[in-house]
Amino acid sequence: MSDPLLTGSEPTRVRFSFEVFPARSQAAALALGHAVQHLAAAEPDFISVTYGASGSNRDASLELLKYLRGATEVLPMAHLTTVGQTREQLRAEILGMMDAGIHDFLALRGDAPRGVEEDDPLVAGSLSAAELIPLIAEVRAERPPLTSVGRTAIAVYPNGHPQSRSRAADIDWLIAKQEAGAQLGITQLFFYAEEYLVFVEEARRAGLTMPVLPGLMPVSTSAQLRRVASLAGRPAPPGLERALEAAGGTAPELGVAHTVELARELLAGGAPSIHLYTFNRHEQVLAVLRELGLLAFDPLA
Ligand code: FAD
Repeated sequence: MSDPLLTGSEPTRVRFSFEVFPARSQAAALALGHAVQHLAAAEPDFISVTYGASGSNRDASLELLKYLRGATEVLPMAHLTTVGQTREQLRAEILGMMDAGIHDFLALRGDAPRGVEEDDPLVAGSLSAAELIPLIAEVRAERPPLTSVGRTAIAVYPNGHPQSRSRAADIDWLIAKQEAGAQLGITQLFFYAEEYLVFVEEARRAGLTMPVLPGLMPVSTSAQLRRVASLAGRPAPPGLERALEAAGGTAPELGVAHTVELARELLAGGAPSIHLYTFNRHEQVLAVLRELGLLAFDPLA
């Protein structure tokens, strides 16, 4: 079956997707349910759910994925990390997700738990994303997907992997993941279109063929901007930083405007689609899509 997201065979409308994370309290879960309903109503290609990030509960990820599967029409994508898990535990985890109707995965090694160093055997001994990809394929072959395409995505780092020694090493790792069976890339956050466009162009010259979705987040506060800068591994744009501070540290409209401009440059430069980190809120990401004219159906209209 041809998959429009992977082949780009349906170029009529630029597509988009979202990332959410499991709620950490009952009140947050209620707010998330509300946000997810709005996000799903915008008809994204998929909504991905983080796993074990920042010490969050893995069971909560599965619950949220099941909610997406059962209470919305949207395709759920499960982030899956290997840190601290044996191959057998991972196999059981993948089977459990497939039994819950989840067939799309973002294969990751995952973050080191708080206070644990990268060279600790718990982290260094974990399967890499490149090793997880064939394990997912193995389990998938045992359980043919009945309700969904079953894609395997990976993380892409336009400004370098956290352990990267060089740009060449980043591209080698990326190609190794493609050779292991990855079909789709989703990038880490970044601030400038050329960071994505130049990296993808270099990777294409080295043999990258998979689509790479730029990951974007409309920040609302100075604290979020600092967090994004730390993930991007680059300083935040000084103009945006100053404008947020001048607005008292909170100004969602500034993050929306920056993301819209960035998305325009990326799409004009050939990005196939955009992946929006929602921070579990729907208002800003829907405002971005509305401004870009990408909403066929506007859940807030
Ligand atoms: P891998 O590519 O498997 O890398 C792991 C190891 O491989 C490294 O420690 C290193 O030994 C080696 N390596 C890889 N690349 C290089 C390189 N260029 N040079 C030298 N050595 C290298 N984390 C979570 O815990 N949960 C999540 O849900 C989550 N979701 C994410 C979603 C996206 C889109 C992105 C971009 C990141 C996400 N992360 C998440 C963070 C991610 O797990 C961390 O960045 C982690 O440090 C690396 O994971 P990976 O899958 O890219 O690892």
